[in-house]
Amino acid sequence: MQGICLLGATGSIGQSTLDIIAQHPDKFRLVSASANVSVDKMAQICRRFKPQRIVMGSQQARDELATLCAESSTSFEWGDEALQSIVADAQVDQVMAAIMGFAGLKPTLAGIRAGKRILLANKESLVTAGKLFMDEVAQSQVMLLPIDSEHNAIYQSLPQHKAGAHKQDVDKIILTASGGPFRTWSLDEMANVTPAQACKHPNWSMGQKISIDSASLMNKGLELIEACWLFDVTPDDVEVVIHPESIIHSMVSYRDGSVISQMGNPDMKIPIAYGMTWPNRVETNVPSLNLTQVAKLHFEAPDLQRFPNLQLAADAWFMGGTAMAILNAANEVAVAAFLQHRIGFLQIAEVNRTVLEQADIRSVNQLDDVFEADAAARLLAEQCISCGEK
Ligand code: NDP
Ligand code: MG
Repeated sequence: MQGICLLGATGSIGQSTLDIIAQHPDKFRLVSASANVSVDKMAQICRRFKPQRIVMGSQQARDELATLCAESSTSFEWGDEALQSIVADAQVDQVMAAIMGFAGLKPTLAGIRAGKRILLANKESLVTAGKLFMDEVAQSQVMLLPIDSEHNAIYQSLPQHKAGAHKQDVDKIILTASGGPFRTWSLDEMANVTPAQACKHPNWSMGQKISIDSASLMNKGLELIEACWLFDVTPDDVEVVIHPESIIHSMVSYRDGSVISQMGNPDMKIPIAYGMTWPNRVETNVPSLNLTQVAKLHFEAPDLQRFPNLQLAADAWFMGGTAMAILNAANEVAVAAFLQHRIGFLQIAEVNRTVLEQADIRSVNQLDDVFEADAAARLLAEQCISCGEK
């Protein structure tokens, strides 16, 4: 029986994780869960799964939840300290890191330090703190299992059981991308899209922020950086290929000409269950792949003119230091501004570029360097957006 601490329980990954827990009550138990503001959703989770501890983002949310669940024996808490404490409980074996954005960094690191198996959905934490994050993983000797479907596919396609073997045998990693809802749209057409259109992903059902990132290809940019940290490669070793059907979730190309991929219907329950049960597998209720029904798979190169975020991410990797945290922070602010109709869709990449060009990029020696870079970049992005509004 594995005890699960589910960070970001009320989100899209959170829901899929709960589905796996509910499907396998003999294997998994929800020990603790967190959310920011979604009190009603959390009350339902509390009633159904009866976790020991729940942490909300504010005292108000905590109090509202405690009132809704007055009969329950769960302990209701709030704030950063509580969040970092639930991951370390003795009953917790696995931490699902599924908070959205940079806010997920500290609790995820706390899970690593506590020696728990880390199921990493929250790519922003690895993108922003890269080397520090991977150093902590190595020091604590924890299992880090990528939940992002592409990285999960790469993980499954690499020769993990032969230490170091992938280094010499792998020619390149092929990172697939659906291309998002605007894959075939012109720049003129993309100029006036609404948040609702951008959130309407053709294949995946996801949270708002990652849906916008998928539409702008920033998600693939973040994933490029994520792959570099996870698999110890550089953007030169990774080829991004647009694959609109999202059936092949990524591939590894070997020096003998073999290409190994992981395929399946686009449903996050597959990589989530893989992470939770590795090195075994369990049923997920996801229909098995019907290849004759899929019939055709398509591939094309990404268009960096229409989707400059992908190039910005590669640039940030080569700039090194705090550049990746800066790009991520700019993007989080720009996406929030787009969702609030303060900027247009194409301005997301413009804000990202401006902030990356103007910010002071420093080396990362400690976690504070990442937090300072994040705060400064948020300020710059906000200024950049306010200037455009005048
Ligand atoms: P959602 O927006 O659906 O859910 C986000 C979760 O994080 C919610 O529980 C939310 O709580 C919580 N949260 C948001 N902001 C904060 C904050 N400041 N402090 C604490 N908790 C917070 O996101 P997704 O589930 O789509 O994505 C989660 C992570 O997984 C992201 O990093 C994303 O990139 C990654 N990922 C997601 C995939 C997907 O298919 N959805 C695929 C691959 C990666 P509340 O509900 O109260 O706001
Ligand atoms: Mg992904």
